[in-house]
Amino acid sequence: MILFWASVLRMKRPRWTIIIEVATMQNFSESARIGGTLVWYWAICRRQVWLMARGIDPNPSDEYLAMGRLIDRNSYARERHQTPFGDNKFDFIKADDGQTVVCEVKKSSRAEKASRLQLAHYLYELKKAGFLAKGLLLFPTEKKRVPVELTEELQAELDSLYAEIYALTEQAEVPLAERCKYCGKCAYGEYCWG
Ligand code: SF4
Repeated sequence: MILFWASVLRMKRPRWTIIIEVATMQNFSESARIGGTLVWYWAICRRQVWLMARGIDPNPSDEYLAMGRLIDRNSYARERHQTPFGDNKFDFIKADDGQTVVCEVKKSSRAEKASRLQLAHYLYELKKAGFLAKGLLLFPTEKKRVPVELTEELQAELDSLYAEIYALTEQAEVPLAERCKYCGKCAYGEYCWG
């Protein structure tokens, strides 16, 4: 490992390039563990899923990530308790008219479809464990709330999405970067476009 990092430091390419190359060479004996974040990434960009599943974290000093953390800290601060459940973490859970509601807070509704799938995944995980719950997406900066219910269609969509995530993460090669509307604010931007 020391030799590896010594050779990294001698090279002029950014460190993340090397990390991706090393990750590319690895094959994993276990399938990826699918948490809500991976489901969210799947709806945004397949390359993000592959990177995240390999443990290659996005740039921690990215300004959009920092903004997300700030909104996280300042919105629903009292309610939020990050409830862990399997490979997931719910932002918070509340009771509404005798029913459990899983709440997910997002900084914007730009990726609403991805957020909806993430929350549906939480509801599906709960259902598999014998709990029925509803979901509520919260976009505090837009003062917007979107209820989410787990329908048969959403379950079917999630089932095929899981299969695709497993297949994708078992690929030896990182999917090529393809420009999309999310690239501009993506914390992996430096990895993809330098
Ligand atoms: S910068 Fe674009 S291509 Fe790269 S991971 Fe982000 S969304 Fe995907």
